[in-house]
Amino acid sequence: MAITTSTLGYPRIGKNREVKKALESFWRSEITADELLQTAREIEEQGWKTQAEANIKKIGIGDATLYDQVLDWVIRLGLIPARFQAFSGLERYFAMARGKEGIAALEMTKWFDTNYHYLVPEISADIKPEANFEDFLATVKRAKNFLGERAIPIIIGPVTLLRLSRLEGVELGEVLTQILPLYKTLLTELKALGMVEVQLHEPALVFGNAEQLKPHYQTAYAELSQANLPIHLVTYFDDLGETYPWVIELPVSAISLDFTRGHNLDLIKTRGWKRDKRLGVGIVDARNVWQIRPDKIFPLLSEIQTLAPEISIQPSASLQFVPYDASREKQLPEALRNVLSFAEQKLQEVEFLDRTLSEENTQLEQELTEDLIANNWDAFQQFSPANERVKKQLQALTTDTFKRSLPYTERIQKQVKLPAFPTTTIGSFPQTKAVRKLRSSYKKGELTQAEYQAQIDTHIAYCIGLQEGMGMDVLVHGEFERSDMVEFFGQQLEGYAFTVHGWVQSYGSRYVRPPIIFGDISRPHSMTVREFKVAQSYTEKPVKGMLTGPVTMLNWSYPRTEISRQEQAFQLALAIREEVADLEAAGAQFIQVDEPAMREGLPLKQQRWNEYLSWAVDAFRLCTGIAQPQTQIHTHMCYSEFGDIMESIQQLDADVISIEDSRSNNETLMQLTNAGYSHQVGPGVYDVHSPAVPTLKTLQENVQKCRQYLPVSQIWVNPDCGLKTRNWQEVIPATRNMVQAALNLRQEQ
Ligand code: GLN
Ligand code: ZN
Repeated sequence: MAITTSTLGYPRIGKNREVKKALESFWRSEITADELLQTAREIEEQGWKTQAEANIKKIGIGDATLYDQVLDWVIRLGLIPARFQAFSGLERYFAMARGKEGIAALEMTKWFDTNYHYLVPEISADIKPEANFEDFLATVKRAKNFLGERAIPIIIGPVTLLRLSRLEGVELGEVLTQILPLYKTLLTELKALGMVEVQLHEPALVFGNAEQLKPHYQTAYAELSQANLPIHLVTYFDDLGETYPWVIELPVSAISLDFTRGHNLDLIKTRGWKRDKRLGVGIVDARNVWQIRPDKIFPLLSEIQTLAPEISIQPSASLQFVPYDASREKQLPEALRNVLSFAEQKLQEVEFLDRTLSEENTQLEQELTEDLIANNWDAFQQFSPANERVKKQLQALTTDTFKRSLPYTERIQKQVKLPAFPTTTIGSFPQTKAVRKLRSSYKKGELTQAEYQAQIDTHIAYCIGLQEGMGMDVLVHGEFERSDMVEFFGQQLEGYAFTVHGWVQSYGSRYVRPPIIFGDISRPHSMTVREFKVAQSYTEKPVKGMLTGPVTMLNWSYPRTEISRQEQAFQLALAIREEVADLEAAGAQFIQVDEPAMREGLPLKQQRWNEYLSWAVDAFRLCTGIAQPQTQIHTHMCYSEFGDIMESIQQLDADVISIEDSRSNNETLMQLTNAGYSHQVGPGVYDVHSPAVPTLKTLQENVQKCRQYLPVSQIWVNPDCGLKTRNWQEVIPATRNMVQAALNLRQEQ
């Protein structure tokens, strides 16, 4: 029985966000490239040191990155699209990541079902792969000096890399043939440097349609095995599904599976394991923040051990998805903090599991640790809010709770009549320095609540005045009191906790602090009514109430594990439902429930989409079903791609859906139209991510284009998304032109 421990990647942003700070200083030309690289290396080495001190035996290295590890491999393999070929070094690297005057960056998209975003490689037929491994090999040498044989290089596997690429006029198999020799050379060089093993990360194996990739995987690994460097094939985020039988036959020495998601345990039990291969047991959840429960894990591990004689205990994926250290969150109640586990705690858990299985712990040590963990969980159970009222409400749901009282065609007769091409915005207006400073002064206690609110109200008044002045039809208050659309609501709900240092990378230098759902969700008081009322008091025009939807709240938080995601979404929905009712009672005739993250919660395997979509749609309907027929329910989704989930979009039964459309060249709108979408749509008529102010002419053309897809009665005019990242100098002329464009077209009606 042989047991080892591994890691599959580690946070690389710095415990105090050092890499972000260095990157942004570098972009402002305040530090040199050498200084930037120096910082990045120090953070990387600290990560190695922490893992070494935690006694991890096989430490994944080489995953640290200045922006994105997929981009790193694109550069290392010389897969450079033509528009970047004139540049080199860091200039090219950041041009590909962030764009440059007149040159579009690579597209960015979500890394599997995580909230990390990677840059999508673009590969066309004329691309000529070329090895560029110096930086990687230099890292490997540093790691070797630091960690010796414990250093295990992490490489993104060739098939996954290509599966995630945008291939233009070229087949995956053709590019694979071109890049395999490069990978093989790399493995040979790593062997020469004294590496004992290499990790090839192939999460594409868990996609629902991975079976199609079988010949590519077989070719790739037959070729790579010739380098005679033991390969550890790493998968995560779901089970291998139907690919299992042939994946375990691939010529590699170890395979890692995720035992925190999907059904890998069933697979090894029913299909058996190749006993000559080490099984990487991803049992410590790298995607969530809860301490292990030894009483649940040990039985599972014993079962696994009967099937696989050689195993490695490890986190289920890279630890980049969790923050560094839960013990730093001193402001959290102890009972909660003691059951949280971030990267550093997870390393200790891996070590504890290993020592226990290897019988290195004394009986006493073993019992002490298990008792401690059990006590922590007991104390937490006492502490976490269990809400009987919410439980009862959930049991009392009937089909009517999920339904508006009248069907769409009847209720729109009762809703506010607006002229053709009604105009609105998505909710937020510029979050200027002054606004951010205002919020932070209040948070620090430098302002009383009354002083703070009085100042917020001046921003609301300004925002309302502007919208009214330009002739907008449905106004918004501007969201100045909100730092973030999930945090703002979470902070007012029972059952949510927030960290101070819990940053994780979203992309590049953008980090987020996902809140933690730790108990039953309930709403002690209304959350948005005051600002709504203030805004409405300044104008005769209708003001739209603005809420974040339950599915987005859930998908952008760390969820609980002892109840289902569906139940958590429903609890959130009930809280937001109460807010819908309160807004209505305060006079709101328009209420928007944003669900930008609806799509990203989709399971990796399409076979499981229906199950998710069905409760996700129900959660939305649960919070909006309470609205009176005369209240118009809006929803907003960014990065909308509806083709394959159109039925669910329809089932939301929102009166109006606003979508990001300007960058997709009406692609999204087309999907709605093709599916016969019959409710109103606000196709974003300009891109809020660009500082450019769209001209009246462009905007008029953009609205006109929508008429090819929808009758006038269904069209709204709005920007693509919220305006919070823009400044007023951009927003005022842009929204003014937008409203004017609608007014001009209205005249022609
Ligand atoms: N109402 C939010 C805003 O305008 C919506 C943000 C989003 O779609 N991500 O900022
Ligand atoms: Zn948006």
